[in-house]
Amino acid sequence: MALGLPSVLPNSPPAIGELIRARRPTFSFEFFPPKTPEGERLLWQAIRELEPLQPSFVSITYGAGGTTRDTTVAVTERVATETTLLPMAHLTAVDHSVVELRNVIGRLAGAGVRNVLAVRGDPPGNPMGEWVAHPEGVRYAEDLVRLVRDSGDFSVGVAAFPYKHPRSPDIETDTAQFVRKCRAGADFAITQMFFDADDYLRLRDRVAAAGCDTPILAGVMPVTRMATIERSEQLSGAPFPRRLAERFARVADDPAAVRRLGIEQAGQMCRRLLDEGVPGIHFITLNRSTATRELWQQLRSDLPEQSAA
Ligand code: FAD
Repeated sequence: MALGLPSVLPNSPPAIGELIRARRPTFSFEFFPPKTPEGERLLWQAIRELEPLQPSFVSITYGAGGTTRDTTVAVTERVATETTLLPMAHLTAVDHSVVELRNVIGRLAGAGVRNVLAVRGDPPGNPMGEWVAHPEGVRYAEDLVRLVRDSGDFSVGVAAFPYKHPRSPDIETDTAQFVRKCRAGADFAITQMFFDADDYLRLRDRVAAAGCDTPILAGVMPVTRMATIERSEQLSGAPFPRRLAERFARVADDPAAVRRLGIEQAGQMCRRLLDEGVPGIHFITLNRSTATRELWQQLRSDLPEQSAA
């Protein structure tokens, strides 16, 4: 059932799906909703410092378990109304009925937000804990994609996993489920973070071999601390690339050297992805601007003119 929204809103902001298809490659930044006044200050400082880089869009995550519903909507709305940036809101299905999901989607539309990343979300606490659907909710991202699509003129993205989703039994099943959610109406996908360009390219090739041409943006987060390595293993369910882990282990006692190596490695990986024709790079900023700006400086010469302005 539609929300009663007009199918194309007057002065409608650009659809990210169209941007990706028209102006490759896109460059985008991901932020998370703050939980404290100090967190809010840091977020807005990062947004203001990154705004002059003119990213194609920025995205605001949805806290685990749907805990940041109001903040996600509020931050996304503020980005839409008080900055020159094009915002996208993440939305998850955890612990929400369809009525609640429609309410959030309606609030986003009311705030002038046209782009939504539809992900299923993880159970709060333990991401690999049992996933219990809300009795009146949806079970998979595929259903959320349909719900957002049916609610108005939204451009919808989904998540992709270079090493397969940790819950998927094997790569083939994972690819088949990914293609299903693309066919449910996704305009684009963004990957979980990864640290070897070949892992992204293998994902892209197997999705293409399955007959799916949904553009897949690369999710990139430079290692700035040794803890990033552990975090990436938790999120991806895959070991961090061994050779790279050894290089980081050699400088583990020197935080500045870890950071330098992380930014250098991410820069090399992004350059390779650009050479391979990646449709876009989505930088996970952790609400800090410096690592992203350093990476941007490294890549500047490889960017198309309108992105490098
Ligand atoms: P789904 O596509 O539903 O897949 C989940 C599992 O179910 C997979 O194993 C899949 O193969 C399987 N599956 C899918 N459809 C079917 C089906 N029809 N039948 C049987 N099995 C099926 N989490 C947050 O809480 N907030 C965020 O803002 C957020 N943003 C993210 C952004 C990106 C770019 C990425 C990569 C992840 C993000 N996540 C976020 C994490 C995400 O919610 C989790 O990784 C979640 O476990 C999977 O979400 P999904 O949308 O891929 O789920």
